[in-house]
Amino acid sequence: RSADCAASIGQPPITRDGTRISLCINAGLQVDMPHLERSGADGVGLYRTEVPFMVRKEFPDVATQTRLYGNILDQAQGRPVVFRTLDVGGDKALPYWREAEDENPAMGWRAVRIGLDRPAVLRQQLRALIRAASGRELRVMFPMVSEVAEVDAARDLLDMELERERRRGCKLPQSLALGVMLEVPALLWQLSALLPRIDFLAVGSNDLFQFLFASDRGNPRLARRYDTLSPAALGVITGLCERARAAGVSLSVCGEMAGHPLEAMALIGCGVRTLSMTPRSVPAVRTMVRSVDLDTLEPFVQGLVDEPAHTLRHRLRGYALDHGV
Ligand code: PEP
Ligand code: MG
Repeated sequence: RSADCAASIGQPPITRDGTRISLCINAGLQVDMPHLERSGADGVGLYRTEVPFMVRKEFPDVATQTRLYGNILDQAQGRPVVFRTLDVGGDKALPYWREAEDENPAMGWRAVRIGLDRPAVLRQQLRALIRAASGRELRVMFPMVSEVAEVDAARDLLDMELERERRRGCKLPQSLALGVMLEVPALLWQLSALLPRIDFLAVGSNDLFQFLFASDRGNPRLARRYDTLSPAALGVITGLCERARAAGVSLSVCGEMAGHPLEAMALIGCGVRTLSMTPRSVPAVRTMVRSVDLDTLEPFVQGLVDEPAHTLRHRLRGYALDHGV
């Protein structure tokens, strides 16, 4: 299998029946970027902007952030990079920015919630992103969105910053794509309003499934209690893919599951066409993609989502063995 993986580098991730699957990497530091070229990935599907904030001693100012994001875009050499705005708070604390402790950090004052309550922080970041992407493509997404009103409020801040830069006579990004992370289940019931407002949707399966199952993603006692390969989880993804496709919104999955070949196979079977993962997972996932046939995989996976099973893992493994995946 590892020889297969090595051989797959340089070969496109196309299924046996000819569908191109986009494989991207998750990144957060400059040192992650050389992996983009090395892994042959299509772009950065998730750039976690909080990572450079976490390794610093103080809050980076606009000029520092602009340099940082500009470097990331330079290193991507024209490949798309999705910048996720700050996802701090909760368990990702900044040592130099302490606020009252949250009792339930994962469900606490974090991510876009902080950005909307402290708009100066989010506006500075958006300003830096706009400047860094001057004349280039800018893709921005907001994390931990729970309602459409938050998307509108964040979008207003982005528009204010664009207008500010325009008035200053600065060269704006050549294009702008706006996305939202789907991590909070409440968004699943707001898709009709949400989808027309955005260009892309990124499923953060780590958070989405911890909230879907009310099961702490970091608690080892719960690690085996619920499976991401359960009918509920795959049913949610299948439904999302249908809605996003009908609305013409691209959808990716960027949680940990996207980087495991069996999970990635299940996601493709649900209709996912873009996966973003830790760089070292790309070769094995590419090998898997090249060995599946969507004509049989999709009906198989989508036929499982109503089963009353705890997990579909053994069924999916059986399929993979039977079909030479
Ligand atoms: C996720 O929740 O799946 C995700 C990709 O975001 P993070 O792991 O950074 O919370
Ligand atoms: Mg998350």
